[in-house]
Amino acid sequence: MSKISYHDLKRQTLKRFRFFGSGRYVHLTKQGHYLQGLSPFHLEKTPSFNIAPEKQIYKCYGCRAGGNAIQYPMGVEGYTFVEAVKELAKETGVPLGIDENT
Ligand SMILES: [Zn+2]
Repeated sequence: MSKISYHDLKRQTLKRFRFFGSGRYVHLTKQGHYLQGLSPFHLEKTPSFNIAPEKQIYKCYGCRAGGNAIQYPMGVEGYTFVEAVKELAKETGVPLGIDENT
């Protein structure tokens, strides 16, 4: 299997990742074009956490956290970039094709 760069992987992953629609970390409800739920980054009673599935970005209006599909597991789980990419690749079935020994 040929190696692909992290840049390519990120693009592929972002494209194929159905983002947090599955509610892996947060229970989300659909609000028009957005998905809304309680922020995974802090305690709150009123949902201020928003996901734009089309743009594959998230934004919390409570704590100002925001980012993309890769930054999300980094923020929530404390993954490094590489760990986050691997986790997303596993979840979405994107072949990694990266030599893990390097
Ligand atoms: Zn928040």
